[in-house]
Amino acid sequence: MGDLFVLQISVYVTCCPSRLNAGCHIVAKKRKSRGRGKGSKGKAKLVQCDNCGAWVPRDKIVRVTRWISPVDPQLEKELKAKGAIVPKVPITKNYCISCAVHMGLRAVRSRKERKEPYTRI
Ligand SMILES: [Zn+2]
Repeated sequence: MGDLFVLQISVYVTCCPSRLNAGCHIVAKKRKSRGRGKGSKGKAKLVQCDNCGAWVPRDKIVRVTRWISPVDPQLEKELKAKGAIVPKVPITKNYCISCAVHMGLRAVRSRKERKEPYTRI
């Protein structure tokens, strides 16, 4: 009975024994930029997502500008046919990553692909 009893001791090798696994170990990086455009800037201001209302750092949001006519599309067509110039207004919206993926603005990328920065196709 005494031979079968095996004492298992798990040894944690850390460089800071006071705080276990705190700050010294290598953390796997999913993306080169950590999903942001921060660099060494420090803290970025928070911006609210226009779709879900989440507070997201400004360098992490997906910013989309669309040129939209304030006139009704049917009326715009008639005005253009008569030779009028209908102005368009830029509308800029901020989206968090989950909303951008849901709306199809950003695609889920493979492990190899996401190491490179996002480029517009
Ligand atoms: Zn959102």
